[in-house]
Amino acid sequence: MDRSPSRLEDLDKRNVVVERMAERGVDLESIAQITLDLQRPYIEGLDFASCLDHVERVVRKREVQHAILTGLELDMLAETNQLSEPLASIIKNDYGLYGIDEVLALAIVNVYGSIGFTNFGYVDKQKMGIIKTLDEEGKSHAKCHTFLDDIVGAIAAAAASSIAHRYG
Ligand code: MG
Repeated sequence: MDRSPSRLEDLDKRNVVVERMAERGVDLESIAQITLDLQRPYIEGLDFASCLDHVERVVRKREVQHAILTGLELDMLAETNQLSEPLASIIKNDYGLYGIDEVLALAIVNVYGSIGFTNFGYVDKQKMGIIKTLDEEGKSHAKCHTFLDDIVGAIAAAAASSIAHRYG
C-alpha cells in the first residue's frame, strides 16, 4: 500500500492514539480481528493482514484521531475522579441513556459513509472480541471504558467499510 500521508492524515498523532489505546488495553491487532470477523462472511479470502492494514488507514485519519483523543480523555478523567457531577457519575456508570459515547464514535464511522453505520450497530450489539473484555472491565468498575468500547467498535466498523469499498 502507498504509505505517503495525505492532507487528511497525521502520522505523529497516529502514534499518540495507538500508544494511548494500548495503555487502555487495546491494540490495533484486536481491532483488526473484529474487522476480520465482520467482513469474512462477505469477502472470500480476506486475511488478517489486510484487515490490519485498513485499521491502520483509519487511525491515520485526523478526524478519527480527534474522536479517539476526546473519548479516551473523558474515560481517564472519569476513572481518576476529575470530572464534576452529574457528568462524573454518568460516565463512570456508563449510564445507558447518555448516548454521547455512541455519538462521538459516529464521527469515526462517518468517514466511510453509510456502510459504516450498519457495521457499527452490529458490532455494538454483539460486543465482539476485545469489546466484550472492555465491557466486563467497565461493569466491574475496575476501569472506565464508556467511550473506548464505542471507539473500538467504530474503528473496526470503519475498517470493514473501507474494505467493502475496496472490494465492492
Ligand atoms: Mg459506551
